[in-house]
Amino acid sequence: MRRAGLKSAPNSTLWPEGGTYVWLGEELRIVTEWLGKADVRRYLAIDKGRRFYSCPHCLDECDKNNWEYVRGVAQLASKDRTETTLRCVACGFDSTVKREKCRDPECKGNVLWPENDNYCLTCRNWY
Ligand SMILES: [Zn+2]
Ligand SMILES: [Zn+2]
Repeated sequence: MRRAGLKSAPNSTLWPEGGTYVWLGEELRIVTEWLGKADVRRYLAIDKGRRFYSCPHCLDECDKNNWEYVRGVAQLASKDRTETTLRCVACGFDSTVKREKCRDPECKGNVLWPENDNYCLTCRNWY
């Protein structure tokens, strides 16, 4: 619903290269911070206790120059350490990720985007 609204909003033309997803991601993050844990789970299917990752599909929709601004709202489908399904609340797509530690020693991420040179969906860097 909200997605369709944003797409038709006048400001979406300012950022035609997938700016909608940037907005939507930001909005969802703000809403998640405002709402309580139970509401977030009920209305958005987001688990506040879990980490957010960037979503490959949302990034695909965006101009690469904007990637650093895309703070994703995707979460792994389960708490299993071998879980490879990343579910995005913004676009509604599931992506298959690779569970391998990011090569940046500073980054605790272990969710990589295999189709994109193992782009780290936590720190959003290529290694
Ligand atoms: Zn997405
Ligand atoms: Zn990383």
